Amino acid sequence: MRALLIVCALAPFAAAEPAPAAAPAIDAGYAAAILYGSAAPPATCTGSDAIPCLLTARYAKDAKARTAALALYADTGDVAGVGAEEIMDGGYRGKIHLVPALPIGDYRVHLAWTLAAMRAIDAFFAAQFPAAIGAPAYRWRALAFHFVRSVGKRTPSAYATSWAVTYNVSGSLLTSVDGVLETLFHELFHDNDEAHRDWSARTLATDYAAILTRCGEHPTMKCLAPYAPGPTVVRGGTYYAFQPNNGDGVHEYAAELAVRYFDEQRAMQRAGKLTAAAFKCGPAENARAWAALVDEFFGGRDLVPACPPSL
Ligand SMILES: [Zn+2]
Repeated sequence: MRALLIVCALAPFAAAEPAPAAAPAIDAGYAAAILYGSAAPPATCTGSDAIPCLLTARYAKDAKARTAALALYADTGDVAGVGAEEIMDGGYRGKIHLVPALPIGDYRVHLAWTLAAMRAIDAFFAAQFPAAIGAPAYRWRALAFHFVRSVGKRTPSAYATSWAVTYNVSGSLLTSVDGVLETLFHELFHDNDEAHRDWSARTLATDYAAILTRCGEHPTMKCLAPYAPGPTVVRGGTYYAFQPNNGDGVHEYAAELAVRYFDEQRAMQRAGKLTAAAFKCGPAENARAWAALVDEFFGGRDLVPACPPSL
């Protein structure tokens, strides 16, 4: 039944794409840095079991968190540790003080949600790209998680660079397993966008700027709504994809677009239909951005049926 609904909108990716099994792994030295920062890791953790040994030692105070951290590494190759203390320039959010926050005790739930989210993302890609289809030009495994806490603020929820995600245990979006799943998919896209040589800025900037120009200097939600890939709204601001003073906004538009891909493809996998209009069937800018994203990152694979012809 599901197979009948599959629509391959674009050409399949080249057979030369690396398989997910060939994805890079985190080595023991990097794992020690994720877990211990600049402090010395236990000297006894060496050899082929060095990373499980380091995880076991670092999470020694919390057996449930230790089990989750080991499961995360075993299932996805991800290593969950801490971020460094920093004063971050958060753009429209102002300056933010971040401190390390190992996800144990009261923060353990964040590790559990991360484990559930990364397992769900892994399952999504397995279903979307079975062996007969081949792997997409996308990485979702062997990631570093840096857990931090923001002092006196609840933003940003997370940020990403260099195959790492910094996760704020006080983040306003990170209060449920669903919120964590969507946020981590968003962040994961930033890592992939970066690895694709800032694809979003190179590819989507013209249409993105044209949308903002069309909606004026102080755009209304109503004007932006047809173009917003996701419903996330900044308190006192606008759609996250179009929020001013938030780095290069096209990066956020693209990450929200990737989340929309994740949501729509999962709905097709589960139910064979969408409960709302497909993003690509909106304005022409949406269709162009969608096709470009699917082609660049997801092997041209789009389970959403083609849009009905416009009258
Ligand atoms: Zn983002």
